[in-house]
Amino acid sequence: MTKKIAVLPGDGIGQEIVTEAVKIIDCLQTDFDFKVELEEALVGGSAFDDCGSPLPESTMQLARQADAVLLGAVGGHKWEALDIAVRPEKGLLGLRAGLGLFANLRPAILYPQLADASTLKPEIVADLDIMIVRELTGGIYFGQPRGVRTLKNGEREGFNTLVYSEPEIRRIGKVAFDIAAKRNKRVCSVDKANVLECTELWREVMIDEADNYPEIELSHMYVDNAAMQLVRAPKQFDVMVTTNMFGDILSDAAAMLTGSIGMLPSASLDENGKGMYEPIHGSAPDIAGQGVANPLATILSVAMMLRYSLDEAALADRIEAAVRNVLDQGLRTQDIFSDGMRKVGTSEMGDAVVSAMRQ
Ligand code: NAD
Repeated sequence: MTKKIAVLPGDGIGQEIVTEAVKIIDCLQTDFDFKVELEEALVGGSAFDDCGSPLPESTMQLARQADAVLLGAVGGHKWEALDIAVRPEKGLLGLRAGLGLFANLRPAILYPQLADASTLKPEIVADLDIMIVRELTGGIYFGQPRGVRTLKNGEREGFNTLVYSEPEIRRIGKVAFDIAAKRNKRVCSVDKANVLECTELWREVMIDEADNYPEIELSHMYVDNAAMQLVRAPKQFDVMVTTNMFGDILSDAAAMLTGSIGMLPSASLDENGKGMYEPIHGSAPDIAGQGVANPLATILSVAMMLRYSLDEAALADRIEAAVRNVLDQGLRTQDIFSDGMRKVGTSEMGDAVVSAMRQ
């Protein structure tokens, strides 16, 4: 049966960058014997404008039926004053929760051609290729009880609960080990086992699960050290696996090592490998509609989709090679532009990747 991709451009630059990603999928269909059905739907602020909800039931249904979801970005100034329950970001959270996307995969890759874009010295970051696997639906962001209460003495106290069950830890561990098996076979599990009992269990379960992966080398690091090592010597890492909150922070730090928010894709997977794929950046309202946004993060998200949900690793490789090729040609959108390069707009960049794929 033909596989189906739900295409959700969202808001701001979402439509512009997703248009380029769809050009890549169209090229796969015409030139590479790849067949897939695409269906587009609204999410975020544009969905709210259309029907009063950032995640209409029809969009959720499409996302549930599809084999994978390609998302642009949501949000923008226009919707900032809305009640929190109907803000664009609720659409994104609703998709993650509704699809049970518990594993967030964020590669931090620095193409050598862009080494100057990093705030770190080129020799520290050139050729950086880390995969951060963040648990996405548990931990302190979801744990109960939570809230702000008033004590007998009248003082207020805020509280949240860090909780992970053994199966929750085990399933994210499996994702990390499986990914490492296809890479350099090293997993670093990041915790705070010296202080938090919950992450003491995390470490225990990771060690236990590693027995099923004798070819993988498992190491452990406290989160404070991991943050330091990421900026000191990031190339020591292959796959990092960690909790929701630690992953939130470390993956942003790792992304910034590469200095180019417009280059980084992400995947969020469920238990069966179905996933939602999106660039890590937002809807960039400051440049929306100008045709200058970098579409490469979204195009690379398509490559991740092919690799992790559609079992088409060779096509994923082809897209990634095409992206390297356009960078080698010196083509740059304004966010990654430097002297001596040729500045291109969003659609010219998409067209260049399509041409490079055909070479
Ligand atoms: P942002 O990522 O949208 O933009 C930050 C900066 O990076 C801006 O200067 C922007 O122009 C630039 N930028 C981002 N993507 C780019 C690209 N592809 N090419 C070139 N430049 C790019 O973050 P923000 O400004 O903090 O947020 C804007 C809106 O996006 C907010 O409403 C926020 O809630 C939303 N947001 C959505 C997501 C998502 O949909 N996953 C993620 C983050 C932020």
